[in-house]
This record gives sequence, structure tokens and C-alpha cells, in this order.
Amino acid sequence: MEAFDLLIKGVLVAERGVKADIGIKEGKISKIEPDIEAEAKYTIRAEGRIALPSFANMHTHVPMSLLRGLGADLPLMDWLQKVIWPLEGEFVSPEFVKAGAELGILEMIRSGTTLFMDMYFFEEVVGEVAESAGIRAGLGFGILDFPTKVAKTPEEYLRKARDFAKGLKGHDLVFPVICPHAPYTCSPDTLRRAKELAEELGLYLHIHVAETKGEVERIKKEFGKTPVSHLESVSFLSEKVLCAHMVYLTEEEVEIVRERGVKVAHCPESNLKLASGIAPIPEYVRKGVHVCLGTDGSASNDNLDMLEETSTMAKLHKGATLDAKAIDARTALKIATENGFSAVGIKAGKVEEGYEADLILINPDSPHLQPLYDPIAQVVYSAKSSDIETVICKGRVLMEKREVKTMDEERILYEAKRWGERIGSFLK
Ligand SMILES: [Zn+2]
Repeated sequence: MEAFDLLIKGVLVAERGVKADIGIKEGKISKIEPDIEAEAKYTIRAEGRIALPSFANMHTHVPMSLLRGLGADLPLMDWLQKVIWPLEGEFVSPEFVKAGAELGILEMIRSGTTLFMDMYFFEEVVGEVAESAGIRAGLGFGILDFPTKVAKTPEEYLRKARDFAKGLKGHDLVFPVICPHAPYTCSPDTLRRAKELAEELGLYLHIHVAETKGEVERIKKEFGKTPVSHLESVSFLSEKVLCAHMVYLTEEEVEIVRERGVKVAHCPESNLKLASGIAPIPEYVRKGVHVCLGTDGSASNDNLDMLEETSTMAKLHKGATLDAKAIDARTALKIATENGFSAVGIKAGKVEEGYEADLILINPDSPHLQPLYDPIAQVVYSAKSSDIETVICKGRVLMEKREVKTMDEERILYEAKRWGERIGSFLK
């Protein structure tokens, strides 16, 4: 008789619209059939639950979870210069990053995310937390041109980015990424060298691009080009580049992005909260651009909830374009799941045989989810992340019946409150 590592009994496989069992072996979905009779090391009885792929949060700064709620109601440049950068100058340390990463990763597991792409400092600490929590992560040391607590010159940032990337060995779920911060904080020379470093080490690049109108004006003034054209002119763009935001692109730039196979990480809630604007995602999708979804950091969202982000995205673009089909529920779910994983070469984001076993089980027995006619549309438009009962990453159960099995929730919340008190008293 066939034996599985994990067997999930009696779920509604939303993408197929059928009730079935899911057999998982060596981290992959190996069988989806009704009433599987087989041995399993662990069985989850999940009658009536909805099985869906887990989320891929393709742009965030997870240690910033400790700065959640600060600098509310400010535009991006004021928020960065008056609130975030001074606080980071005072507090960022391996201890801060550890407590922030624990808080953020706990929040992501509780809301059904099993992959996140992060850009910050002391990312080796984030890597340790992610690996022990059992969540996938693409991590990069942020590269800038101006001095901060962690480095003084572009050379020093690049050297630290290289050391970090080369030092991140022996991890199963965590991989290094090269992260120049943005075209307005990195010179053409820094961008070129970051790109060379990524090519030399065979890694993805992750960068903020065309986030605000102010950025577009600044790059135009300095280099005579809009941000994406500027990146193209320094040979930065390729299919291994993940660009967050991409709110302001010319028609020509959309074409460049499509042709180069650049991945776009759309961050609708952060763009709304910082009054940056609305990226024309339906147009990108229609033109064949690879779009995925991210929350950005907790200080500009103000949470890491990908289900909420998915719902916001789907509704936002209907309103912005006056087209109810601009981003439909199934497209929204694909952008938030499969498109994220595939952007970094991971075969996950579908509840299908042969895919990585990254999935969530949702309990629909709540007033806001009944009656249940169309599970996918109703998850996107009505579900809350607290309806996500079980989260599985690469076949490992990270949360079951709302209990996170891989992290000490009580201690993490205690530490976060202590940091909140320290930062709060500094602000007084
Ligand atoms: Zn960001």
C-alpha cells in the first residue's frame, strides 16, 4: 500500500470544485483523489474545509513589523525621511531584526503565507528565523549609496551584500537575493555592480521601481529618463529581476518589462496608504507582464495579510477602471499565489499533483462565508485570514487549527511589546 508523509482527508479542492483527499510525500502533492486508502505518518481530518494554495508575499521588509503604526497619514518621502530612517538609525540591530522577523513571520504564517521576498539589514538573522519557522524566504541585504548604521559607501554595501549571499548556505527554504534599494538611492554604477554580483552568483535581483510621481520626476531630472528606461539603459533588467511597485510606467516601458520578462510585485495597500497611486495592473496583465503581489512592510500597509491584499487588489482595479472584470477573483488568486512562486522558480501555488505542498485549509463555517456557492470568489471577497485554519509549507504543517506549531507565539508577542515600549519612549 502507498504511504504518505501527510494525508489530508475530505477537503473541498477549490480549483477543481470537488471533494477529495490530498496525499503528500517528500514535500510534494502526490495524489488528489476521493477516499484515498493509504498509510500516512500524519493525517489531518479536514471535512468541509476549503483547500487552496498558500500565498507568496513578493515584497516586504519583515523586521519593520516593529515599526507598525508609526508615521500614519504621511506621503512616502516624509514617511521615510521624518519617521522611518531616523528610527532605523537609532534602533536597527540584530536584536531588533530578530524580534521584528519573528513577529512578521508569525503574522504571515497565521495569514497563510509560505514564501516572502524580503529586503533589509541583518538578513542572516531573518534567515535563521524563517528556516526554523519553516517558511520559504528570498532575502537580500539592502544596497544604498548613502551612509547608514550598517555601511558607509556603495563599496561597503556591495561587499556586505556579497558576504551575506555567499554566507547563506545550508538552508533548505531560504535563498539569497541581491537588493539594490531603488534607482533614486543607487547610482547607475551601483546598479550595474549589483547586477554583475547577481549574475556572478546566479541570484535574483529585487528592487523598488517607479513608486511615486516624485521618483519619476527626480530620475528624469537626473538622468533624462523615466525609471524603467533608466534601468534598461544600464542593462539592469532581465527575467531574474523583481520590481516592486511599478506604479508609473510609460507604454514603452510596459513593453520593455514584458520583453525582458521582468517580474512586477504589485503592492496596492502600501501604494494607497502612502498616497503613491494605483499601478495599472489590469493593463500589465492584459499585455502579458508577469505580475505578482506583495504587502510591503508593516509600517506602510499596516499588516502582512496577503488574503486582505488579494481582496483589495481585486476590488481596487474594478473601481479604478470601472470594469468589474478588470481583475477577477481567479486572476487575483493566481497573482497572489502561483505567479509569486513561479517568479522565483518554485513550482508551487496550485493544489495539483506534482506541485510543492504549499497550501492552506480554510474553515467556511462562519456567518460571513455562508452559504457557500463559489469557494474561490467567496474566499477572495468575503473570507478573513482568521478563517485560515491550517498552513502547510513544503509538506510540513506550520499551523493546525489556528495553532502555530513552529513558533513560540506568547514569547514573540511579549518581545514585540517590549520593543514597542522602548521605541515608544524614544519618540516621547
Ligand atoms: Zn518596500
